[in-house]
Amino acid sequence: MKNIVTIVIGVVVLLVGIRWYMQQSAAKEAFEKHEALIIETNECLEMAEWNCAEKNVRALLKETPDDQNLQLHLAGILFEQERYEDCIAYIQSRKFSNADMDYLKQKSESLIREIETLGLERSMHFRVEFEGRPARKDIMEALAVLEVAYDSLCHLFDFHPENKMSLVLYESSQYQGIGPRPEWVGAVFDGKLRIPVNVMAYREIYRPMFFHELTHAFIRAMTRHHVPLWVNEGIAQVIDASRTGMARPDTEAPNIEALTTPFINENNTGAAVKLYWYSQAMVERLLARNADLVHFRKFIQDMRTLGNDEALKKYYGVTAQQLLDEVK
Ligand SMILES: [Zn+2]
Repeated sequence: MKNIVTIVIGVVVLLVGIRWYMQQSAAKEAFEKHEALIIETNECLEMAEWNCAEKNVRALLKETPDDQNLQLHLAGILFEQERYEDCIAYIQSRKFSNADMDYLKQKSESLIREIETLGLERSMHFRVEFEGRPARKDIMEALAVLEVAYDSLCHLFDFHPENKMSLVLYESSQYQGIGPRPEWVGAVFDGKLRIPVNVMAYREIYRPMFFHELTHAFIRAMTRHHVPLWVNEGIAQVIDASRTGMARPDTEAPNIEALTTPFINENNTGAAVKLYWYSQAMVERLLARNADLVHFRKFIQDMRTLGNDEALKKYYGVTAQQLLDEVK
C-alpha cells in the first residue's frame, strides 16, 4: 500500500513538473517569437520592404492594439504603398491623432488630388510623389524611361522587386530631400528615387541618371544588407556607363576605408570623382572574373550572412584590398 502511495505521489510530481516545464518553455518560445518579430519588423521598415512590414506590424498590433507608435507605423506603411485612401480611412478610424498622423493624412489627400489633376495613371512599378509643379509631359516621359530601365534591370539581375519603388519628381534645380547635399549630386537614391524633372530636356543626361539611381534601388531591394559603397557605386556606374573608360585620376589612390563609407559626405568634387572612379574600376575587376550579373546579385545577397570579405572570396576569389591594388 505504501508503495502504491509513493508511486502515485511520484507520478503526480512528475506530471506537475512536466506541466510547469511545458508552460515555461511555451512562454519562452512566445517571448522569443515576439522578439524575432520585432527585429524583422524594424529591418523591413528600414529597408522599405512594405509588404513584410505591414504583415509584421499588423501581427504586433494584434498583441497590443492600442500601441500608438505601431498605429502610426501602419498608417505610414499604407502611405508608402500608395494606398492613400486606405491610409486616410485608417487614420480617421483611430481614436488619437498627432502631428505625424495629420501630416500623412494631408499628404495622402494632396497626392490623390495631384494625380487626378495631372490625369496620371498609377504607374506599374513606381509610386510617384511630386515636389513643386512638374509638367505632365515631363512626368510621363520620366515614367516611361524609368519603366524601360526597370525592365532591363529585372532582366540583367534576374530579379523582380517585391515592392513598388518610391519616386520623387521635383521641379526645382535645388535638391529637395532631407539634409544638405553637395552640388555634384543631381539625382539621389535615399530610399526614394529623387529625380529633378528639369533633366527631361536632356536625354544624354537623364538616361544614365535613371539607370544609375534605379540600380541603387534594385541593390537595396535585393538585399537588406548595407553593401559597401564601392560595390554599390561601382555597379551603378557600370550599368549607367556614363563614365566608362575615363582616365584614372592622377591624385593618390584612396584607401578601402574611404571607399566603404558614404561618398555623399564628400564635399570636395575632386575627391568624390576619385572615389567614384576607383569604385567602378574595382567592380569592373570583379566582373572581369565573372561577368554574369546574376552571379553578382547572389554575391551581394550572400554578403548579409557571409560578411563582405567572405562573400568576395567565395564568389570572386579576391579581397577588396587586392582589387584596389590591381587598379592603382
Ligand atoms: Zn550612385
